[in-house]
Amino acid sequence: MTISPNYSSMSLPRHLEPIEALRPGVVIIGGERLVNFASNDYLGLAHHPALIKAGIEAMDRWGAGAGASRLMSGDMEIHHELERAVAFLKGKEAALIFGSGYLANTGTIPAICGHGDAIFSDRLNHASIIDGIILSGARFFRFRHNDLESLEALLRENRNKYKNILILVESLYSMEGDEAMIRELIDTKERYGAMLMVDEAHAVGVFGDNGEGLIDSSLADGVDLIIGTFGKALGGYGAFVAVSKTLKNFLVNKARTFIFSTALPPPVVSSNIAAIKLLASEKKRREKVLKNSAHMRARLKRQLGINPAGRSQIVPVIVGEDKSAVALADHLRALGFFVKAVRPPTVPEGSSRIRLSITADHGPRDIDMLLEALADGFSYYGKGIC
Ligand SMILES: *Cc1c(COP(=O)(O)O)cnc(C)c1O
Repeated sequence: MTISPNYSSMSLPRHLEPIEALRPGVVIIGGERLVNFASNDYLGLAHHPALIKAGIEAMDRWGAGAGASRLMSGDMEIHHELERAVAFLKGKEAALIFGSGYLANTGTIPAICGHGDAIFSDRLNHASIIDGIILSGARFFRFRHNDLESLEALLRENRNKYKNILILVESLYSMEGDEAMIRELIDTKERYGAMLMVDEAHAVGVFGDNGEGLIDSSLADGVDLIIGTFGKALGGYGAFVAVSKTLKNFLVNKARTFIFSTALPPPVVSSNIAAIKLLASEKKRREKVLKNSAHMRARLKRQLGINPAGRSQIVPVIVGEDKSAVALADHLRALGFFVKAVRPPTVPEGSSRIRLSITADHGPRDIDMLLEALADGFSYYGKGIC
């Protein structure tokens, strides 16, 4: 049997490349030292001694794995401790942990929406959100990225044809680096009697006075479900949904990726707790990510005339054709930088890009040198740039 993929980028198949060693901000691959601009470990917490210590201690006390789902025998005190820490961080009554962000979205969305309901989703939402919507069987409407008028036009026309209405966005878009207008979305959802669900996968840890993300205590009440992950800025693995107590109890009984999947392993749970505790005390890591990002954005503008949307640590350099993006990534690689080309279906056709992830482990020199390398790459591959 042959597998015949049906999307264009298969002319440039993706492949895996095992890392041999990691240093702060650096990967070693094939004996080569490359500055890592492709990691979501934005705060550099994955190697923090407090996370490692917490993981080892929990492994000693509770074992390597949970042994069952939460509703069987996998539910330990530390899972609840993590949920309390998340609820407090996010300013919601309760939180529920899932195995990953992918599982959180594909479990939560079908639990709260189904046939007869409608979901209004930003066009650039993450694949796990799209898969959750498809699994739900609800009617799926996509609005133009960050375009409230496009959303409102769809709501006006369709609101009354469906029972429950869910508006679904990310707070910080994973491939664009720009932010949703949460306050305006809360206003919209109230006017249409809808629910609002926001995925904060890339914002938690990086934004907010205490690393809570872009939904702070003044907004939390207006957002019915907040998704966040432990695998990105928090340096661990797993994900949560922060909700009311009522909604949590409902999800415990309805979310199939929660019910039918093994609980997160104790070492991972404890490292996640340690990461949340660090958010308050290690504010300087957050400040450094944002300072590095501002530096990168200012230099991109000054040196290359590129002005990516937003202010965040995710900086897309849009190239256009997937072949040009891959060529540019290879060029940067040859100059000592680990960056990834992102192309369809991850991003829309014709918007292939280099996605630069800025972290607290980068220094200004890393960024300056990357800029030189990008300028050099553009002189070869600049034609397709839009
Ligand atoms: C990464 C990501 C996820 C998936 O989270 P994992 O824990 O890696 O499965 C979900 N939503 C968004 C917006 C993401 O960027």
